[in-house]
Amino acid sequence: MDLNDTPEQAQYRTQIRAWLEEHRSEAPILQGEGALTDPDEILAARRAWQRKLAEGGLAGAVWPKEYGGRGVGPLETVIISQEMRRARVPGILDVIGVGMLGPTIIAHGTEEQKLRHLGPMLHADEVWCQLFSEPGAGSDLAAVATRAEQQEDGSWKLNGQKVWTTNAQFSAFGLLLARTNTAVPKHKGMTMFLVPMDAAGITVRGLRQISGEAEFNEVFFDDVVIAADSVVGGVDNGWGVGLTTLMFERLTIGLGSEAFGYDGARFARAIAQDPAACADPHVRRELGEIAAELESIRWTGYRLISDLQGGQIPGPEFGLAKVTTVNNAVRAGDLIADVLGPEALDESNEWSYMISFLPGLKSAGGTEEILRNTIGERVLGLPAEPRLDKGVAFSELRALEKEASAS
Ligand SMILES: Cc1cc2nc3c(=O)[nH]c(=O)nc-3n(C[C@H](O)[C@H](O)[C@H](O)COP(=O)(O)OP(=O)(O)OC[C@H]3O[C@@H](n4cnc5c(N)ncnc54)[C@H](O)[C@@H]3O)c2cc1C
Repeated sequence: MDLNDTPEQAQYRTQIRAWLEEHRSEAPILQGEGALTDPDEILAARRAWQRKLAEGGLAGAVWPKEYGGRGVGPLETVIISQEMRRARVPGILDVIGVGMLGPTIIAHGTEEQKLRHLGPMLHADEVWCQLFSEPGAGSDLAAVATRAEQQEDGSWKLNGQKVWTTNAQFSAFGLLLARTNTAVPKHKGMTMFLVPMDAAGITVRGLRQISGEAEFNEVFFDDVVIAADSVVGGVDNGWGVGLTTLMFERLTIGLGSEAFGYDGARFARAIAQDPAACADPHVRRELGEIAAELESIRWTGYRLISDLQGGQIPGPEFGLAKVTTVNNAVRAGDLIADVLGPEALDESNEWSYMISFLPGLKSAGGTEEILRNTIGERVLGLPAEPRLDKGVAFSELRALEKEASAS
């Protein structure tokens, strides 16, 4: 592919750069000198900044125009990420909503759902969370056990628990994967729902991380009643809808290296603070390898994006971008921590958040083992892993598991 901007893309870049020049002083300072510290102020400032970016066409730009986007192609979103990095402004607050859940609603939701929810999501008036993972359903997401039972009046009653739910503590809505039919194999009996997070019977409990923050939560559902029209993409069709979200999740994380600032030059600048480290052949080689891997996956990503210009949903090969990006950012974090010493983990240090957050990113969006399995089976055409649950009704799985562990 040709990586030079076409005349149209160069014009688009100029336009984005000019917008950022004009508005960068309105961006919140989240790190370093003058950074906001009060969590409520940070949240309010990030909401306001996302709203500003949406108004300028820099948030959700790939969304269709009728839902508030600009209808641009994926390459233009790369241009936006590059220019935002260049202007050193933070990204949007609701990456999960705008990057993953919005596109899922656009692909599978009803027109009413799109018109009601997409605008407030894009402008951060309503932040969203992804209610998929459970204590017994992470990598094996199809094992979801949270139940949704339809009532006589058509409404649905939810019971169960989710975990690792990012941003649930301030979300207005969640996209929830729940079991609606136990008489069929596990992939076939799930449904996707829109859930208002202030519904009676929902309890959100924060999980404290090593970085000190509590960005994830456990979410409990006790006899939560939601409206009949909360279903997204059809009853018992939740797996297909969820796959759309997961593909956008891998795309968001895998191609996020630009937006997250995972690039060799930035890592080299950190190492350059220590002249002895700069002269150390081990450090130089490690840095060189990290930079080369990140650069190669960036270009692979552009090639895939270029293929995607036709509007297709990202395929399983994007898992490779996620694995490579995260693994190399983790390596870079380890290297920087070795070179800078304990000060790298000081809260005020620009690297402390990345170093403590990245190990979690290895699991988020699919673990390396699972992504490699998927790439092996669906991209390389290798034999599938043996599956004992194939064709077995969800209600019979527990007995089957007991039998297997007893023998
Ligand atoms: C930072 C972060 C944010 C997250 N945000 C959200 C969110 O907003 N919403 C949400 O729904 N979820 C979220 N998650 C959950 C995430 O999707 C899960 O962590 C992920 O799917 C892995 O599931 P698990 O943690 O239950 O690990 P498990 O599935 O229990 O896996 C444990 C280990 O076993 C390995 N393993 C499992 N099965 C296999 C297999 N078949 N072959 C080989 N190895 C295997 C895994 O690779 C892993 O190393 C988040 C997680 C993190 C860390």
